[in-house]
Amino acid sequence: MLCSHLRVSRQRLLPGLALACLAAPLIAQKAPIQIVADLSEAPRKLYHAEIDLPVSEGEVVLTTPKWIPGNHRPTGPVDDITGVVFTANGQKLPWRRDDVDLYEFHVTIPKGVTTLHAHLDCIVTTRLSQKMATLEWEKLLLYPANTPVREIPIQPSLKVPAGWGIGTALTPESSGAYPVPAAGSTTKYAVTNVEQLEDSPVITGEYFHEFPLAPEVTPKHYIDVVSDFPDDSKLRPSVLAELNNLVREAGAVYSSHHYHVYHFLLTLSDVAGGEGLEHGQSSDNGVGEKGFADDSHQLPESDLLSHEFTHSWNGKYRRPANLYQTDFEKMQQGSLLWVYEGMTQYLGNVLAARSGLKSQEQYRELLALSAAQLDNRPGREWRSTEDTAIAASILRGGNPAWFNWKRGQDYYQEGELLWLDADTLIRKMTGNKKSLDDFQRIFLGKGGDTGPEIVTYTREELIKDLNELMPYDWAQFLHDRVDQPNPRADLAGIEQGGYRLVYRDKPTKSERTLESLGEPRRGLDVWYSIGIRIGGDGVIYDVRWNGPADKARLAPGYKILAINGNIFSNDALKGAIKAAKGGTEPIHLIVQADTFVSPIDIDYHDGERYPALERVNGTPAYLDDITTARTKTEKAPAEKDKTEDE
Ligand SMILES: [Zn+2]
Repeated sequence: MLCSHLRVSRQRLLPGLALACLAAPLIAQKAPIQIVADLSEAPRKLYHAEIDLPVSEGEVVLTTPKWIPGNHRPTGPVDDITGVVFTANGQKLPWRRDDVDLYEFHVTIPKGVTTLHAHLDCIVTTRLSQKMATLEWEKLLLYPANTPVREIPIQPSLKVPAGWGIGTALTPESSGAYPVPAAGSTTKYAVTNVEQLEDSPVITGEYFHEFPLAPEVTPKHYIDVVSDFPDDSKLRPSVLAELNNLVREAGAVYSSHHYHVYHFLLTLSDVAGGEGLEHGQSSDNGVGEKGFADDSHQLPESDLLSHEFTHSWNGKYRRPANLYQTDFEKMQQGSLLWVYEGMTQYLGNVLAARSGLKSQEQYRELLALSAAQLDNRPGREWRSTEDTAIAASILRGGNPAWFNWKRGQDYYQEGELLWLDADTLIRKMTGNKKSLDDFQRIFLGKGGDTGPEIVTYTREELIKDLNELMPYDWAQFLHDRVDQPNPRADLAGIEQGGYRLVYRDKPTKSERTLESLGEPRRGLDVWYSIGIRIGGDGVIYDVRWNGPADKARLAPGYKILAINGNIFSNDALKGAIKAAKGGTEPIHLIVQADTFVSPIDIDYHDGERYPALERVNGTPAYLDDITTARTKTEKAPAEKDKTEDE
């Protein structure tokens, strides 16, 4: 069915990244490493690997991956690797961990030995359940250190629990084993290299479905789905129609493919956890059990698949030169993540709207939420968007306390606004004859259809490509928006698009939907009024720097016990904000801070405030043009209850 992944990708590298500067391989890499991944104990949170490495006499240094592509962080699972045993000709060989690089193992190979066998186990606690498992190969990889990973041939094999189906972009050696292998069998895949194997995850599960998408398109596209319950992996016909549209819409904009086959890998589970990790020929997507079960649950996930799919072009094929490393040991630098992630955030949302995964109205409502959030993030006064990208590897997760003053990985949403600004600017200056779609032909479509290659770029090359589309001072445009702190978010794209960001006293339909799902990011939204994020139990988890609650000296971790003489409830708080509107009497709170209780007054009188986009009549509605399908879209079947305008 598929082409072989054996081919080692060509690469156009900058001189500074020349492969030759790396130390010579310590192991003669004529024959491929053989690795058998055994997931049959996945329900017990254990993966096993049997690895045969070609070696010759002397010391070898083997390593596990450290910097994981797409994570932009040193998240290699060395701390979960256990049960490591090396043998040769049936004899156990001693090993010693490197004193400095804790990911490396030193083993001395005796004379006459040509194959080193390694056994290892990995303790895996996320992305699996009793009914499914996800394998990101870095969990089991062991290979020669200090060697470009694309130059290390490797042949993977896989064992999964009896009856479980397999979804992956890897090429099976014999097609009969695919996608549900016989009980107890091992599925062998074509030889690839360590870089490609790390980029080729597997999902497997009892309730497995594989659906071909947009069958007229070459190369072939599939979505493979596993779930904890039998019905969830049978995707709704409307979702499949929207994914067919997505494949066609992406082809229309990116005018190229950089894969031999593409597999969306999707897990539906409340246990396995959320995920969105891009790969060149596939993507690892994890949502809750009901993630695509109805329109409401689909809303927060509506751009997940289009975002990760876009990364096959923007991120995997075109990659910032300083983010790419020839092995997984060197740091991947993040300074251009506002392109890698930011432009993907923009395109992923645009493609979701064009495909019907969300409506145009939902697109605008979610954009309003994102723009308002950035525009009310005071950390932007001291920290530039570029700094959130450079510091990406230390900004994920963490405590929500004072998050708005610290900033997070804002290059995603900042990038979305930036590229919307660029798109609408191009449309405005060319009378809507050119757009960022045309730029993608230059930037992402470069070279036409290829296999899974990597073509790196610098900021200068990005600017050159923008100028090729439309001569403009793009260097200054980017500098102004990216390199220096900007107290206000870049709302120019919304305004050039024919809309403006406003605040109303009622949330939009989309915001109400997110709130009804208990979206953890939402909670009770009084962020744009009194300026706190709050849990249902009255505990404050963030306070907007310089907002009314901050001025009243509230702090993260404080718990609101009472409001205007009533015991705390969401309704009591909203009622108090409404009642204080236009008056002079402050909102009276009783709060608990650690073990102390005290009264606090918030002097706020502007009522409830929820972000929305409002049409500016008489201006070109480029935002609507941007979100209109370019191909003949499949209509979603009648069960779909879309709100409007497709
Ligand atoms: Zn991404």
